[in-house]
Formats: sequence, structure tokens, C-alpha cells
Amino acid sequence: MQNKIHVRKQDTVMVISGKDKGKIGEVVSVLPKTNKVLVKGVNLITKHQKPSKENMQGGIVHKEAPIYSSKVMLYCTKCKSVTRISHKLLDDGTKVRVCKKCGETF
Ligand SMILES: [Zn+2]
Repeated sequence: MQNKIHVRKQDTVMVISGKDKGKIGEVVSVLPKTNKVLVKGVNLITKHQKPSKENMQGGIVHKEAPIYSSKVMLYCTKCKSVTRISHKLLDDGTKVRVCKKCGETF
């Protein structure tokens, strides 16, 4: 069974625990199988890369590693804080997520 993850690709989230606590970033991808998300600029790991076509020099690259989705919360860019969301059904049948604090839709 696939885990249900509360954030989606391109959401802005804040890390609420761990070494990156307080960091804000965009969800790059959601990995339901492992219940993890990949967030831009969060949980950076150092990787040694062999020289390749794209990178003739090789060397050290910094790359994001996935973190558990339970460690992130949706961040409302309008409230400038983490927020709880509610779901709303629009007249045309599309489901949107609404910030409980300011009413902003996601
Ligand atoms: Zn808000």
C-alpha cells in the first residue's frame, strides 16, 4: 500500500525537525514508497563524482537527499509560517487546498 503524503511536488515546505529544522524549500519530488520527500536545499549530502561528459573535472557535488515527509510541514508563503490546510471543492469539481489561517489556495 502506498503512503499518503501530505505535500506535493512544487509545494513550499518547512523542515520541523532534524538538522535542517527551520529550513524552507520547494518539494522537488515525492517518494510515496519510502514515505519521503526531496526538498530543494534541504538535507544536503556531499558526493564524490567521477569525471563525466557533463562534468569533465569530476569532484565533489552537493546534492539533496530525501527526508521523511513527517519532518516537513506545508509553508504558506502568504502567512510566512507553517500552516494547516483544509480542502475545498470548487464549483467545477476541482479540489483545492486552502490555508486555514489566511484562506490562500494551493
Ligand atoms: Zn496562509
